Amino acid sequence: VSPAPSEDEWIEAIAGRFERAPGALLGIGHDTEALRVGEEGTCIVSTDVLVDGRHFDLAACGGRAAGRKALAVNLSDLAAAASRPLGFLVGAVLPRPADRALFEALADGMAETARRYGCPCLGGDTNAGDGPLVLAITVVGAPGPMGVVSRKGARPGDVLSVTGPLGGSRRGRHLDPVPRIAEALALAEARLPHAMMDLSDGLSRDLPRLCAMSGVGARIDAALVPVHEDVGAEERLAHALHDGEDYELLVAHAPLAPGAAPPVPLWPVGRVTAAADGIVLATGEGEAPIEPRGWDHLAD
Ligand SMILES: [Mg+2]
Repeated sequence: VSPAPSEDEWIEAIAGRFERAPGALLGIGHDTEALRVGEEGTCIVSTDVLVDGRHFDLAACGGRAAGRKALAVNLSDLAAAASRPLGFLVGAVLPRPADRALFEALADGMAETARRYGCPCLGGDTNAGDGPLVLAITVVGAPGPMGVVSRKGARPGDVLSVTGPLGGSRRGRHLDPVPRIAEALALAEARLPHAMMDLSDGLSRDLPRLCAMSGVGARIDAALVPVHEDVGAEERLAHALHDGEDYELLVAHAPLAPGAAPPVPLWPVGRVTAAADGIVLATGEGEAPIEPRGWDHLAD
């Protein structure tokens, strides 16, 4: 048996087998794709698959929470693109025999998130199988005030900021992620993001992806990284870097003018550097490369 591929290897394997679709403006490897539609329009699309036992524990959290989370993490990708939700499609594989109460609870949970963020259901498909519950959602959005925002566009000298504290999502937050749609649109309204992504897999795994797409390096200042208060005194920084499922936005933007306030709270965590400078963490003891140890979906 060959070792399990990483998610990034899987993305490369898929991307390498296809020509870029004529209307695709970004290419595979961003949080979303921006698709030209007809002569005038662009729509933003993204998909995320959630599996019982991996992304939620259905027996413990119930169908409603699973449904809420499944749509919320998809909306987080639309936030990463600073786009406005238009609707979603859902493919569900229920454990056999399909249970009506579970079905209703999943639908209730999705409807709750859908109402909160203005993202109605466009349709979908349902099946039953012998494995765990699987929810595959595709979201569709419209470009926000800056048009297409992606992981590309960070420039050396930019500030790297996050929209909230990181770490400790396993303390229950991972079930109720808050997609930063409103924050992303406000940032775009202020023309702030040069590049942006959502932190689904942890800063240590996600930051290199933004750097790769932008062709830059990064220097994170350990003392600046905001950590959730409920993360224990031990290894706070490690949790903030590696836990994943934060669903805050990572934004590369020009330094703010002295005294200027951002349109939404931002925590600067470092700077964009030249690619040759690598991706490093600066602590009181010096600088060291950041090892990507965050959440990998295909690892055990
Ligand atoms: Mg994402």
